[in-house]
Amino acid sequence: MNLLIFGPPGAGKGTQASLIAKKYKLTHLSSGDILRAELKNGELGARIKKYQDAGKLVPDSLIIAMMEKAIIKGAKQGGFIFDGYPRTTKQAKALDKSLKAENINLNAVINLNLSETEAINRILKRGRTSGRSDDNIKTIKARFAVYHTLTAPLLKHYQKQEKVININGRPPITAVFKTITQYLGK
Ligand code: AMP
Repeated sequence: MNLLIFGPPGAGKGTQASLIAKKYKLTHLSSGDILRAELKNGELGARIKKYQDAGKLVPDSLIIAMMEKAIIKGAKQGGFIFDGYPRTTKQAKALDKSLKAENINLNAVINLNLSETEAINRILKRGRTSGRSDDNIKTIKARFAVYHTLTAPLLKHYQKQEKVININGRPPITAVFKTITQYLGK
């Protein structure tokens, strides 16, 4: 099974993707985590940090190359769940192309819904322990603006393919997960 998880910052994508990956034995590929793992990496790390701290997206060329390798590896290992990718039309097109080239089918796109107020509260709470320099109010606002203008419109693309499963992200973690498993099966 190959999945994408969508939703605004703070909707619980990372948490749910980890649970899904564990249950269905999928490779969890978080573009944010993959980028954060590079932060200590000299010049590239410094470049990435600049974008993340501003709440902006890193350039498509950089992230597409990084994720391409991950797709092929994940699919060979029995499936993947992408968390935080794609985030732009260019990334979505690149993903479509890679999937087609590798003959990989995308089963579903899980869309976690959460209001901005609720999401901001969650991120600020997470910021107290996450150590993430982008979990502060100024950067969160910028991340939301990016989400609304560049990422949310991508849902239409997947709706056309009839792949989107809409999930209310407001209930507790276990309840949200249970709803997701009801869609995905045992
Ligand atoms: P996340 O961990 O998904 O909240 O991502 C944190 C930050 O990493 C974002 O605000 C971006 O700066 C960067 N990032 C993560 N995924 C992507 C992506 N697919 N494209 C561009 N930048 C990304």
